[in-house]
Amino acid sequence: NSFFSSVLPPPEDPVLSVYFASRDDPSPVKLNLSGGSYRTEEGKPLVLEVVRKAEQQLANDMSRNKEYLPLDGLADFNNLSAKLILGADSPALEEDRVVTIQCLSGTGSLRVGAEFLAKHHQERVIFVSNPTWGNHPLIFNLAGLSVEVYRYYDPKTRGLDFKGMLEDLSAAPSGAIVVLQACAHNPTGVDPTLDQWEQIRKLVRSKSLLPFFDNAYQGFASGSLDIDAKAVRMFVADGGECFIAQSFSKNMGLYGERIGALTIVCTSKDVARNVHSQVLLVVRPMYLSPPIHGASIVTTILKNSDMYKDWTIELKGMVSRIVSMRQQLYEALQARGTPGDWSNIIKQIGMFSFTGLNEKQIRFIAKEYHIYMTYDGRISMAGLSSKTVLIQLADAIHAAIT
Ligand code: PLP
Repeated sequence: NSFFSSVLPPPEDPVLSVYFASRDDPSPVKLNLSGGSYRTEEGKPLVLEVVRKAEQQLANDMSRNKEYLPLDGLADFNNLSAKLILGADSPALEEDRVVTIQCLSGTGSLRVGAEFLAKHHQERVIFVSNPTWGNHPLIFNLAGLSVEVYRYYDPKTRGLDFKGMLEDLSAAPSGAIVVLQACAHNPTGVDPTLDQWEQIRKLVRSKSLLPFFDNAYQGFASGSLDIDAKAVRMFVADGGECFIAQSFSKNMGLYGERIGALTIVCTSKDVARNVHSQVLLVVRPMYLSPPIHGASIVTTILKNSDMYKDWTIELKGMVSRIVSMRQQLYEALQARGTPGDWSNIIKQIGMFSFTGLNEKQIRFIAKEYHIYMTYDGRISMAGLSSKTVLIQLADAIHAAIT
């Protein structure tokens, strides 16, 4: 006789069902490539050395305490995070028309941004790419926005459906919000070129759409934090408004610290001041104030030029390991003569590869080879490690195709 006997059983969640299938597989060679966390060559989670160093420094600093942070978080963290994405010389920063607040990583930044928009933006339609990160529709729906999709990925070319994307954005109502992944698109690994970004920017501005950048992988596309910020900076340079959800989960490996920021670029200092005060009213009843530890780690690293440099080197190390895994997997498939064009594996960018495998093939690979990926055919390249694991995957794909 529970009050909750009419609560529905768990829905079939494609990501969770892969997780459970992998967890329950007793095979010693099982390999789960469905996750979005970086792994070392040994298949282990990685804590960056520079993060360890920052944590030691923080632990030795007896002047630190555990007081609440302000509603908008650590001020230094906010300033440095905004500079990281906008560029230290950004006119928007100089003109003091940028609002940045520390949030619970990328997800929390998207959620706070969505809540603000649901309250203060007239047009409630928000467009996300098809496909997109599975949490996007959940976050925006819960905030009360109405989620629509724009064409993005073309399964035939395993690349960008640029024409479809422009057509769909052209047809969006004026004021509609458009979620754009700043780089290293999840799940497809397909990003627009800079020329294409420029065309997207022109269209977004001419149609008066509101860009909401999801910047979860800065540094993970090219290995350079500045190069990966180019698309966002292009939009900020034209003086228009945009939202940016920023995460340090992937590029600093701070997943469980839940550290990120929401930046809102406004057209004037006055607007920014009002927006700031209203964002605080979104935060206050939700979680009051954000956690200290992750923000302190990021701030320590961004503040210190030596540590910043060490970070960029470790970040490049992660990215080059992923690029090398792409190359090795591609070559392994070539060597087996696996039918089909697998060049998408080396062309795609960031942590994931969208293999083009179908659900039947994915289930076959799970059953026969104990390798798990999401049912859309996405594999985490960062989850691949030693040569043996790579060979296991190449054999599995070859067997599934032939
Ligand atoms: N946005 C995208 C596209 C992602 O892939 C992820 C995580 O996988 C996130 C946002 C949010 O990550 P976090 O909340 O850990 O920053």
